Amino acid sequence: MITHSAEETIKLGIHLGREAAVGTVFCLFGDLGAGKTTLIKGIVEGATGIREALVMSPTFLYLNHYLGESKNVYHFDLYRLKNAEEFLSMGFEEYFFADGIACVEWSERIASILPKGHIKIALSDIGEGRRNIVIE
Ligand code: ADP
Ligand code: MG
Repeated sequence: MITHSAEETIKLGIHLGREAAVGTVFCLFGDLGAGKTTLIKGIVEGATGIREALVMSPTFLYLNHYLGESKNVYHFDLYRLKNAEEFLSMGFEEYFFADGIACVEWSERIASILPKGHIKIALSDIGEGRRNIVIE
């Protein structure tokens, strides 16, 4: 689909976060500025009720936890990750089978170990505030 503003992308995320069952793994692909963090702000709000203003890009951390009343969200940003081995060595794989929804920015970094049944979301900037978003 195509969104025409950050607000529209957040709305899409809210819908995904509301509908997603615990155990869902959203694997996001796309360049810097494509809208991955923006979409995840919506997913966090839809799943946990935590407002988008409180959702930060975990640029230095790799992982943020958002704990909701009925669902948790685990938000990875793997921009600085070297490879899949580093991900595994930090024990992060557990989060794919945990009591929450996992969202992974820069899934490219761990393409070889993405879990079976994950939902792939590819975002691209197509100009004038529009983003092409493909969900598989
Ligand atoms: P990423 O995490 O992929 O690097 P961000 O979500 O942090 O990207 O940044 C996307 C930027 O693009 C934000 O500044 C946002 O306001 C802007 N933007 C403009 N149009 C859109 C849109 N349709 N969807 C998402 N973000 C948009
Ligand atoms: Mg980001």
